[in-house]
Amino acid sequence: MTMAERKVRVRFAPSPTGALHIGGVRTALYNYLFARQHGGDMVFRIEDTDSNRFVPGAEEYILESFRWLGIDFDEGVSFGGQHGPYRQSERRAIYQQYVQVLLDAGKAYIAFDTPQELEAKRNEIANFQYDASTRLQMRNSLTLSKEEVDQLIADGTQYVVRFKIEPNEQVHVNDLIRGEVVINSSILDDKVLYKSADQLPTYHLANIVDDHLMEISHVIRGEEWLPSAPLHVLLYRAFGWEDTMPQFAHLPLLLKPEGNGKLSKRDGDRLGFPVFPLEWHDPKTGEMSHGYREEGYLPEAVINFLALLGWNPGNDQEIMTMDEMIQLFDINRCSKAGAKFDYKKLIWFNHEYVLMKSDEEVAALFMPELKERGIEASLDKVTTIVGLVKNRVNFVKELWDNCHYFFVAPTEYDEKTVKKRWKENSAQQMTELRDVLQGIDDFSIENQEKVVMAWIEAQGYKTGDIMNAFRLTLVGEGKGPHMFDISGTLGKEETLKRMDRAIEVLK
Ligand code: GLU
Repeated sequence: MTMAERKVRVRFAPSPTGALHIGGVRTALYNYLFARQHGGDMVFRIEDTDSNRFVPGAEEYILESFRWLGIDFDEGVSFGGQHGPYRQSERRAIYQQYVQVLLDAGKAYIAFDTPQELEAKRNEIANFQYDASTRLQMRNSLTLSKEEVDQLIADGTQYVVRFKIEPNEQVHVNDLIRGEVVINSSILDDKVLYKSADQLPTYHLANIVDDHLMEISHVIRGEEWLPSAPLHVLLYRAFGWEDTMPQFAHLPLLLKPEGNGKLSKRDGDRLGFPVFPLEWHDPKTGEMSHGYREEGYLPEAVINFLALLGWNPGNDQEIMTMDEMIQLFDINRCSKAGAKFDYKKLIWFNHEYVLMKSDEEVAALFMPELKERGIEASLDKVTTIVGLVKNRVNFVKELWDNCHYFFVAPTEYDEKTVKKRWKENSAQQMTELRDVLQGIDDFSIENQEKVVMAWIEAQGYKTGDIMNAFRLTLVGEGKGPHMFDISGTLGKEETLKRMDRAIEVLK
């Protein structure tokens, strides 16, 4: 079967060992873009063969993260499909069968060495590695008779199954991003494929058997798995599955914002950004880690930002919808070099995505906070206010600081602003302006502006003086959008009330 005929099937295969790291999200996203682009399938597999590292709640957390981010799967845990079960802990019998295939073919062997025996060997031989050069000095089915092996197993002795790697072979890994990687098989050790203790395979065996049985066409994963790839190629070969071996693509590392070294949770803590999609409560330590969702990031912004960590469309287009990314994505254009995690750029993306949403959409996101603050306001009114201030914020949660005065009249007046903007004749001028405003029937923004500007000119006042003092009376400080937008939105009654009070207090 040629590559062109093969249906594209990719998988995201996390181990449920805790919260999903943002690098894992990037990996899933690239798989998703690639699958959708080729009309292929995306499989969600849980690799839980390491029971020591299993963390309850991790699987649900990962699924919830993808729901929030808008990455959907076609098959897998919680999605169903023809290739299940999709949780490796439920596939023991399958792995046992394939371990037996390798044993029967003489491509794997049973080893009984105890941890103490292995330790003794390590002390005896510098840089000891369990491989062709040492395996005949060990206690395994290559050195023991068949009767001894059968007896040990019958006695319930614990054992592992090791992959018998032939030395001095060139192993070629063809990687869509890295090109051809060649290593000599002698540097590999006889990896453990299966442990009798828990009757479970190790990651390597389960991963290869599942990719094969699930008809995975492309393995797109993080660079940290590149060192395992030669071993995986040898496993495909040992099973005789070379013809349907998936294409590999190892994605570049995510680097610290400064660029030196791998991004870690500590960088996030140090610089104040999350490295997890959702808030995570570690069930063992009780420790809480921040998540992008709870910190107020929009999922579209997170996705757009991640898409560009290791890939770009070949021009300087930065803002892309998921559909555009699906169209433009090109696995061959992914970079080999690590991608700096420029979290400030993500804040910029969030700002852009807040701006791209309609005022009403942003208002709807803001309503719950208003309610929590005990503010009663119609969606219409909030929409108008959001329209006036949303270009000032990066996050919906920053709206309140920028528009609270629309909902709550100032009770205090910012000292610095008063000093600078409230002049000797301000009280007098504001009293006059108040009366001018009271006389306006059409309190629309345009009409107020027309009448007030004419009055200023007729009186020979300075526009700046009037507007600054006016702002102070309505807002309580020197910030906010255009003055008549504020008074127009507050309405005549509220505007006059606030002016009266300010004049009274400031005199
Ligand atoms: N279970 C591995 C992980 O946690 C999967 C690696 C792979 O994609 O082969 O990332």
